[in-house]
Amino acid sequence: MAIAEYDILIRRAHLRGREDTDFDLAITDGRITNIAPQIDGSAHAEIDAQGNLVTEPFVNTHLHLCKVWTLEKMDEAALRDYHAEGMAKAMTAIECAREVKRGLNLEGMIQSARRAAALAAIHGNLHIRALADVDSIAGVEGVKALIAVRDEFRGIVDIQVVAFPQDGILKDPGTAELMREAMQLGADVVGGIPWIEFSDDEAAEHIAFCFDLAQEFDKDISMLLDDAGDHSLRTLETMALEAIRRDWHHRALAHHCRAMSQYPLPYFYRLVETLKRAGVAIVSDPHTGPLHARVKELLDSDVLVSIGQDDISDAYYPFGRNNMLEVAFLASHLLWMTTRSEINRLYDLVTIDAARSINVANYGLEVGAIANLVVLDQPNELEAMRFHAAPRHVISHGKMIDTNAMNKIYRG
Ligand SMILES: [Zn+2]
Repeated sequence: MAIAEYDILIRRAHLRGREDTDFDLAITDGRITNIAPQIDGSAHAEIDAQGNLVTEPFVNTHLHLCKVWTLEKMDEAALRDYHAEGMAKAMTAIECAREVKRGLNLEGMIQSARRAAALAAIHGNLHIRALADVDSIAGVEGVKALIAVRDEFRGIVDIQVVAFPQDGILKDPGTAELMREAMQLGADVVGGIPWIEFSDDEAAEHIAFCFDLAQEFDKDISMLLDDAGDHSLRTLETMALEAIRRDWHHRALAHHCRAMSQYPLPYFYRLVETLKRAGVAIVSDPHTGPLHARVKELLDSDVLVSIGQDDISDAYYPFGRNNMLEVAFLASHLLWMTTRSEINRLYDLVTIDAARSINVANYGLEVGAIANLVVLDQPNELEAMRFHAAPRHVISHGKMIDTNAMNKIYRG
């Protein structure tokens, strides 16, 4: 009997942008070791893709993982306020959602976050930037919970934990010290939300604090910016200018930026130039609020963009299952990106562009890259988005995801 040269061989895979022929892919010791129209040899496991799409795994650049499935713990006031009156009451919603944290505990947060991580694995969503609230009520419990889940899922779903001051830093005394504690505990990214501070000066101070902390710990930054229906909000610009000043290029990610939808166009296009100089990428979640960043114009201007899940059953959004094809499907309608080339572009926004936005290392469907990939049941991006079904196979770090085990975790 011949000795297997490879751990996994995938036969007859359709690769994105390669209409001419199908390919075989070989995986050994956690890496992609060969991609060719025909690979001779054998493997411990063989998958026949039957001409269906094989791509990089999905990437979720924005998820409030510490509050998944908290919706059932609160009344609907927060959800109503966040979405009503053109997002005029977005801040009231955040204050309302703050109350639910009094009822959360470490073990409960870990169990809910594990369920969401298991769903991510099933859906081939293998890289998540996950926000953990840091504030005077939750303390650093959310960070501890997400670090525990990150470590448990290492090698299956790679989770970046963001220390996120949901209720402000100056507005919520004690948070600055808690943020430092969160970074010492091992958080991966410094979060921020400057637009909810009481004045522009305090917002600028909030931003400066986050950059100080990020530089001290040598970490990336993720900030929720201008998340309300107010055209006068300018924290995206302030953050981008700070990134230029501090030389933190491609290390500061901007989330939401919904006020951008109401900016006058001359200001918007000046801002685009600032974003490009700063290397600031934008994450939009158009399904979680009635306003959204100008994704199409940003893409036309070559700003790096991704779309995120944002929420799974919490005060801000009732649905969600860490399925980035579903998120892209929703975005296709909300952004009116429905042509074939726009659908292909949306696929980038939940895969390669999302990975670049959160600096995932060794990502890509190429020889030498870490063997993270999905084998879909559909032949192309359009069909994949139509069904937004879970992939037939998910491979993480060269190993097949055990779907039964993940389903068991999800079902609890
Ligand atoms: Zn969010």
